[in-house]
Amino acid sequence: EAKRAGRGCFRFYDPSLNSRSILQADLSSRFRRAIMGDEFVLHYQPRISLNGYRITSLEALIRWQHPERGMVFPGEFIDYAEQEGLVVELGNWVLRETCRQIAAWLAEGITVVPVAINVSPKQLRDQTFVNYIREVVSDYGISASLLEIEITERCVVEDFERPRQALEALSGLGLKIALDDYGTGFSSLSFLKRLPINVIKIDRSFISDIRNQSNDAAIVASTIALGHNLGLTVIAEGVETREQLIYLRAAGCDEVQGYYFQKPVAAAEIVEALKAGEVVR
Ligand code: C2E
Ligand code: MG
Ligand code: MG
Ligand code: MG
Repeated sequence: EAKRAGRGCFRFYDPSLNSRSILQADLSSRFRRAIMGDEFVLHYQPRISLNGYRITSLEALIRWQHPERGMVFPGEFIDYAEQEGLVVELGNWVLRETCRQIAAWLAEGITVVPVAINVSPKQLRDQTFVNYIREVVSDYGISASLLEIEITERCVVEDFERPRQALEALSGLGLKIALDDYGTGFSSLSFLKRLPINVIKIDRSFISDIRNQSNDAAIVASTIALGHNLGLTVIAEGVETREQLIYLRAAGCDEVQGYYFQKPVAAAEIVEALKAGEVVR
């Protein structure tokens, strides 16, 4: 049983416990049942182009609707899933659910935009990953170009060649690939050169105080310039204020994502924004 740590707050994994505790064994089966059942849900957050304020794509973000604890955010269980070898199964669910949702929207006649899913390092190293994507996309009868994936540099630090080949194959299928949380990892320029990356997402830690921190502003400006020189789309994450938006627009950033426009919301709610197409703010 997961342990409560303070009011309404709890942890699935307590590093002070032995790694293979009864607690973890129980959680592991709890977690598997949750994957098979209906306890996980995807919320969607739009990305907005700064040239016309249109929704260009969505990011799918997982939530666990825990029967006793209510909504649990991925920060509390992704690392656990990764450690326990459950992240591939979870990622497969995210992929199927995203494709199911896209197909459902298409069937309703809604003009859909591509949806990005977050992919963990283990998934990308999994030999079956590319074929599984190919299969699921074809099962739901949707175009692979309606799917995007977001990776982080963690996906390629330990092993470069296998993830690179998977990304090349996905790129060949028509999926766009984004490098997430840019600036927080190694930010190796050679990754950008040697991987088929289409999009850079500047981490929100550089955006939050961009108007007062000249270092952050310099990093953002040079990342935008670098991205553009390499022919990439540059997205700023975590845009919460009008001031940040104006700054990023002036700096030539292509797209933004953040609470200023829209928090991640359930499919039923995001569909209203999709129907409207443009975001007026
Ligand atoms: P991420 O991919 O960098 O996603 C962006 C996170 O920032 C999301 O948190 C989002 O809700 C939050 N966010 C968006 N706009 C704002 C803003 O304006 N201000 C602030 N403060 N936050 C904002 P979330 O949903 O809790 O996800 C956290 C991380 O969990 C994600 O970071 C991603 O690394 C991971 N994650 C989420 N869904 C999945 C998934 O399906 N699979 C895997 N492997 N990882 C996932
Ligand atoms: Mg992401
Ligand atoms: Mg990010
Ligand atoms: Mg992040």
